[in-house]
Amino acid sequence: MNVLEKEKGTYTSDVHEYVQHVYETVKQRNPYENEFHQAVKEVLDSLLPVLAKRPQYIRQAILERIVEPERMISFRVPWVDDQGNVQVNRGFRVQFNSALGPYKGGLRFHPSVNTSIIKFLGFEQIFKNALTGQPIGGGKGGSDFDPKGKSDGEIMRFTQSFMSELSKYIGPDTDVPAGDIGVGAKEIGYMFGQYKKMRGRFEAGVLTGKDIAYGGSLARKEATGYGTVYFVEEMLKEKGHSFAGSTVVVSGSGNVSIYAMEKAMHLGAKVVACSDSEGYIYDKRGINLETVKRLKESEKKRISEYVNEHPQAHFFQGCSDIWSVPCDIALPCATQNEIDENAATVLVSNGVKAIGEGANMPSTLEAVNVFHEHGVLFAPAKAANAGGVSVSALEMAQNSARLSWTFEEVDAKLQDIMKTIYRDCIEAAKENDAPGNLVVGANIAGFVKVADAMIAQGVI
Ligand code: GLU
Repeated sequence: MNVLEKEKGTYTSDVHEYVQHVYETVKQRNPYENEFHQAVKEVLDSLLPVLAKRPQYIRQAILERIVEPERMISFRVPWVDDQGNVQVNRGFRVQFNSALGPYKGGLRFHPSVNTSIIKFLGFEQIFKNALTGQPIGGGKGGSDFDPKGKSDGEIMRFTQSFMSELSKYIGPDTDVPAGDIGVGAKEIGYMFGQYKKMRGRFEAGVLTGKDIAYGGSLARKEATGYGTVYFVEEMLKEKGHSFAGSTVVVSGSGNVSIYAMEKAMHLGAKVVACSDSEGYIYDKRGINLETVKRLKESEKKRISEYVNEHPQAHFFQGCSDIWSVPCDIALPCATQNEIDENAATVLVSNGVKAIGEGANMPSTLEAVNVFHEHGVLFAPAKAANAGGVSVSALEMAQNSARLSWTFEEVDAKLQDIMKTIYRDCIEAAKENDAPGNLVVGANIAGFVKVADAMIAQGVI
């Protein structure tokens, strides 16, 4: 449909067809990028009511523009392993949308990383970052490098090579990467060192998730997990529920998962299961978080080792079965599409009351439908896990002001931000004929901020 046809007003009755057309074009132009298609579909389907009410978004081709990254960078990352062999990985950065501020989003190092994964994550990041209310655009990046089993020297040489190229495209007012799966404070440190060397400038705000020793923010490490729990607690409160006394299953045992477990426990929940890529542990007395932290954060061991120290617990091979553990609240904090229709059905039949997505897009579209059909409270990733990037933006603010806030100050701001996101989503859902539907609420609330800023800045 061209602009003139839209001007004639056909869109009001044909919004559905128009959105479908945009989606089909995305599929054609980006073949084989299934995760990207999935993320786009979820957002576009939510936007029908707001597009019907605000035709300027259609006239201004906001959808057509927003699904197209402003820039997609792909580059070679050669490095030398400990045996002296030359290895070649692929590096990516998608600079998706800068309507609200410099591109902002993490870097993922995982063998599954490809264009589709980076674009789905970058697309989600646009709306997530908008929801935080902070001045940050959407971006994402990473590499198919697998940090598992690599020595420190190999990780350093790889990240230095990665940053040698990436440094040409980023900066504190341009694009500010951070961590994601496979990228923590150590990798950020090596990348920061390389960036500083290449620029000859100490630009603290070029990366977030830095160590506290040189410009990191207190509570950044905890922020994604804590934020998810703060968000879910708001959602539960509205229905008279709470984490207190609830049984919780959390997938993963990385940064998001560990601090989601910690905050859930602070609020009085019993966390009975968590996982890694090999399988999951079930400890019916409640997981001992100190053991998980030691195994995963310091010793970099497998979660299966947990049962050696806690013989009452069980280890099960394969991680998808974790959703068969009965619970009141499930917090998927591992990776995309870890809850499919089947897993969702099992969770529902075991009486789950609420889902809070700590990972990015951990539920398939079919799984989300199952939760909605059965009245399960559902907190979608781009709202529920926005705490991480929110505290990244607070880290940028501290770096600009050359000061640092206490843990309590940052945590209080994080709680405020998560409560505000929850309220904004609830209101947007209500205004758009989908009361209580936080998927619709989050997508519309985030989209409207970006779309209005894009219109204000002209066709660029
Ligand atoms: N990777 C995280 C996310 O998915 C954090 C991004 C950041 O801090 O920039 O939101």
